[in-house]
Amino acid sequence: MKTIRLKAGKERSLLRHHPWVFEGAIDRGRADAGETVRVEAADGRFLAWGAYAPSSKIRVRVWSFDEAERIDANFFERRLRTAVALRQRLAIDSDGVRLVHGESDGLPGLVVDRYGDTLVAQFGSSGVERHKALIIDALLRATGCTRLYERSDASVRQREGLPPVTGWLRGDGPTECVIHEHGWRLSLDVAEGHKTGYYLDQRDSRRDCAELTRRFGLAEVLNCYSYTGGFTVAALAGGARHVISIDSSAAALQRARHNVELNGFDLARCRFLDADVNASLRAFVAEGRRFDAIVLDPPKLAPSAQHVERAARAYKDVNRLALRLLRPGGILLTYSCSGAIGVELFQKIVASAADEAGVDAVILARHGAAPDHPTGLAFPEGEYLKGLVLWRRDGVAELLPAGPVAPE
Ligand code: SAH
Repeated sequence: MKTIRLKAGKERSLLRHHPWVFEGAIDRGRADAGETVRVEAADGRFLAWGAYAPSSKIRVRVWSFDEAERIDANFFERRLRTAVALRQRLAIDSDGVRLVHGESDGLPGLVVDRYGDTLVAQFGSSGVERHKALIIDALLRATGCTRLYERSDASVRQREGLPPVTGWLRGDGPTECVIHEHGWRLSLDVAEGHKTGYYLDQRDSRRDCAELTRRFGLAEVLNCYSYTGGFTVAALAGGARHVISIDSSAAALQRARHNVELNGFDLARCRFLDADVNASLRAFVAEGRRFDAIVLDPPKLAPSAQHVERAARAYKDVNRLALRLLRPGGILLTYSCSGAIGVELFQKIVASAADEAGVDAVILARHGAAPDHPTGLAFPEGEYLKGLVLWRRDGVAELLPAGPVAPE
């Protein structure tokens, strides 16, 4: 067993059970890609078992902080069965579920999503790459699924020095799936779509979107960065009269249109714009357009801490424009999936966007990734998705009829 010795003082994050060892923390020791190593402090004390990645800045990803643990078939079987057991207990209102969420499920670099009877896996670290065969077998046993598609084409692979790989690992057939989320039917393609095909993390936000549309009687909805129309279907299901979906991907919009039809909604209630969101919002402002609800779910604008300042400006711009387009009494659902932008900073950005837009809004709810995307207690990096549900309050009093405002 190879040993990685840390520099003096560099053991602190591991003692707090943070699962990464950066290259700069290592005094000596090396191993092959994905090989299990013993990580020890400068004084030789055991800290963790981890997987070595020779060319990654994150040089070791921790499997276990328990010295008695062996990283073998049994280890992966137990971790995977535990992850699957959590999802079973969550009783998620969908057959599209994240079964394994990397570090937060104790399996650094591994993402597994289930779409009906099809599994999609992303092997994003040298450690899970090395143990791929064991992981595949254990996954199929734990889920009873027979089809497993590999989507190891995310950028994290490059940083680990691993080539992109996609294709069926078990079973075969069409890569298109239809899932049932909150009673809606949503189609996706595990080979072509973003991530593993769909944004499962926004499942609960889409449910709330439908519910808010219904309760607030939101008629005209603008869904920005719509991807395959998850929020579009939600708003239509909530009774929206008309929904505009904007995305810069023609293929995503094509599928969004298909998803609207799959749910039996009249396409006359929809418009799909293959365009840049920022430019479209500016055009709507110039035209004096207004909406009752706006969804803003941009891609990750800050890929790392160095990009925070520029990303903050981009988030502020788009939120300012959206708030200007919101009718009094309207709802904005605004999100950031940049891990480098924390909840507090995001709120500050949106607050200053509201100031600049001259809009008075209050927070009705905070959104985050659905619970099948848990966050490790000692792994704040895992908490990437945050959202605010805002209600535009200024101008509402003028719209109310005379007499008592009767509680519902
Ligand atoms: N809300 C979606 C997920 C959005 S992902 C859901 O619930 O499924 C972000 C989307 O933004 C992607 O589909 C991407 O194609 C799109 N996008 C990225 N940059 C864009 C831009 N400048 N203008 C419009 N769309 C953009």
